[in-house]
Amino acid sequence: MSTPQLIPFLEAQDPEIAQAIRGEEKRETEGLELIPSENYVSKAVLEADGSVFTNKYSEGYPGRRYYGGQDYTDIVERLAIERACKLFNCKFANVQPLSGAPANVAMYFALCKPGDTILGMDLGHGGHLTHGHPVTHLAKIFNFVRYGMKNPETGEIDYEALRETALREKPKMILAGFSAYSRELDYAKFVEIAKEVGAITVADMAHIAGLIAGKAVKNPFDYGFDVITTTTHKTLRGPRGGMILTRENEEYAKAIDKSVFPGLQGGPHMHLIAGKAVAFGEALKPEFKEYAQQILKNAKAMEKVFLDAGVRLLGGGTSNHLLLADVFGSLGVTGKDAQTALDEVGITLNMNSIADDPRKPMDPSGIRFGTPAITTRGFKEADCAKVAELMLAVLNNIDDAEVKTNVREEIKQLCVTHPIPESFV
Ligand SMILES: *Cc1c(COP(=O)(O)O)cnc(C)c1O
Repeated sequence: MSTPQLIPFLEAQDPEIAQAIRGEEKRETEGLELIPSENYVSKAVLEADGSVFTNKYSEGYPGRRYYGGQDYTDIVERLAIERACKLFNCKFANVQPLSGAPANVAMYFALCKPGDTILGMDLGHGGHLTHGHPVTHLAKIFNFVRYGMKNPETGEIDYEALRETALREKPKMILAGFSAYSRELDYAKFVEIAKEVGAITVADMAHIAGLIAGKAVKNPFDYGFDVITTTTHKTLRGPRGGMILTRENEEYAKAIDKSVFPGLQGGPHMHLIAGKAVAFGEALKPEFKEYAQQILKNAKAMEKVFLDAGVRLLGGGTSNHLLLADVFGSLGVTGKDAQTALDEVGITLNMNSIADDPRKPMDPSGIRFGTPAITTRGFKEADCAKVAELMLAVLNNIDDAEVKTNVREEIKQLCVTHPIPESFV
C-alpha cells in the first residue's frame, strides 16, 4: 500500500483537518477513480506542493520580479518553463495560471478585445464551460459562436459548417478542445479554416495534455496551432494548475505574459510551479510514453465491453482516455442513478449530458468515465475489461443490494492488488 503522508504537526495541532486528509487518503486508496479529469500525483510532486515556496511572493517573471529574494523562485520557474517547452515542442510557456479556467481567461484577454468573436465547440457536444457558456462572465465580454459534431455516432466535427460559420462570422479566434469528447480533432482542418479568415488558433488541451506529452495523440502544434492552454492536473499528472503555451509567435507570448500578470493574477503560486516542474520532469521520462499509450489501450478495452453489451457510446467509441455512454438510452438508467449506484460500490465517475440530450443537466442521459487514474495504478487491458463488466453488472441490477455488495468487494480487491504508486521514475 502507498504509505500515508507524514503530517505529524497537523495531527497534533488540527485533528479535524488531519482526519479529513486521512479520510480522503482512504477514499482514494479503496475506490476506483474513473473521473477522466482526475489522477494521482507522485510523492515528489506532493512534496514540492507542500514546500516552503508557499511562503514566497514572486510577482513578475524570472529575472524581472517586483519583490526581492528571488534566487530560488527563478530556478524553479525557469525549469518549469524549459521542461514545458520541451514536452510540447514550443518556444514559450507561461506556467503561472492558477488553473485551467484562469488560463483561458488570461488567454482570451491577451489575444482578443471585448466584443471579438470566438468560435468554440458547443458545450452540449463536449466543449467546456470556459468556452463561452452563458453562465460564465466570459460570455458577457466576448461573442462566442458555436460549432458542433456532424454526427454524434461517429463524433466527426462538422468542418464544412465550421468553415461556413467562420466565413460568415469572421472570428478573431478559433478554439479547439473539449472536456467530454472521445475522438481526435483534425487540427490541420482547423488551421486551414483559420488561415482563410485570418483567425488565431488556440487548442484547450486540458484533458489530453498528458496524452500529447506522451505522444499517444496528436500535438496541435505539429499542425500549426498558435497557442495551447491546459491544466496540469489531468492526464499530465501534475499539481492542480494551468499553463499557456505559444508555439513560436513572440508577440502572442508577450501578450499572454502581460495578461496573466498583471492583467489577471497577482503573485504566482510558486509551490505549485515547483510541483509542475517536477511533474514535467516525470513526463519527459520514457516511462511516461508507456503510461500515455496504456491509457488509450485501457480505454479501448472498456469500449469493447460496453459496445459488446449493446451500450451506445457517443462518438461510437473512443480514441483517447474517455468514454461517454448513453446509459439512459441503452439501459434505461439515468446518468444520476448510474453515478449514485456506482459510487456505492466504490467507482467514482460523473453523470454527463450527451449530444442533444433529451434530459436535463442535473439528471442527464449519460455517464463520462476514463482511464488516466486507474492506469496510474497499473491497470492493464484485462483489469479494465473487468471493471467495465462490474460497472455493467451494477447498471443492469441497479436495485439489487447483493450484486452491489459483491461488486464492492471485487473493487476493493482490485484496489489492494493495484496500490497507488509513490513514484513513477
Ligand atoms: C478542466 C478543464 C478546464 C478548467 O480547468 P480548471 O482547472 O478546473 O479550472 C478548462 N478547459 C477544459 C477543456 C477542461 O477540460
